[in-house]
Amino acid sequence: MDSNYRFCPACATSLARITLIEEGAEKERLRCPSCNWTHWNNPTPVLAAVVEYQGQILLARNAAWQNKFYALITGFMEAGETPHQGISREIKEETNLDAQELQLIGVYDFQRRNQVIIAYHARCVGEVSLSPELVDYKLYAFDQVRCWPSGTGFALADWLRSSGHEPQFMENWQPPQPRAPEVAS
Ligand SMILES: [Zn+2]
Repeated sequence: MDSNYRFCPACATSLARITLIEEGAEKERLRCPSCNWTHWNNPTPVLAAVVEYQGQILLARNAAWQNKFYALITGFMEAGETPHQGISREIKEETNLDAQELQLIGVYDFQRRNQVIIAYHARCVGEVSLSPELVDYKLYAFDQVRCWPSGTGFALADWLRSSGHEPQFMENWQPPQPRAPEVAS
């Protein structure tokens, strides 16, 4: 998994793929030939929430996705906040709901986007009002919701199982495709 970095953020020299010995083994990474800055490309933590609202599961559809896929509330952690604060903030920003109770479901890899998902169950109250990032939401009974075979879908499945509901997975699921960037005219 590589990135689009081309220049060193410290000294603006063009980056190159350079092999160095790290912890006793050769490792090729994108590095700066001038100042030795290294692009570690570590996975980014992403927070996710199985939002329980009025006794149902709230899934939302992202405005940036082409397909009609309803998913968990997710977002990146901000500097200076705890995971609990981060997921409470994301839920508030995206749905206007207040998380009254948070419980860690688990941690999941999401290698397609070089992320690691920290997933919570969040019991929420308030009035739903979606941010512009989301176009729609749906409420699902625990035994009606369908999981998807990908990071956050496994978190949903694990939570359902832990609360006594055998998870059911979608068939022929396709990962959501972001809309192509608009071509400037
Ligand atoms: Zn540099």
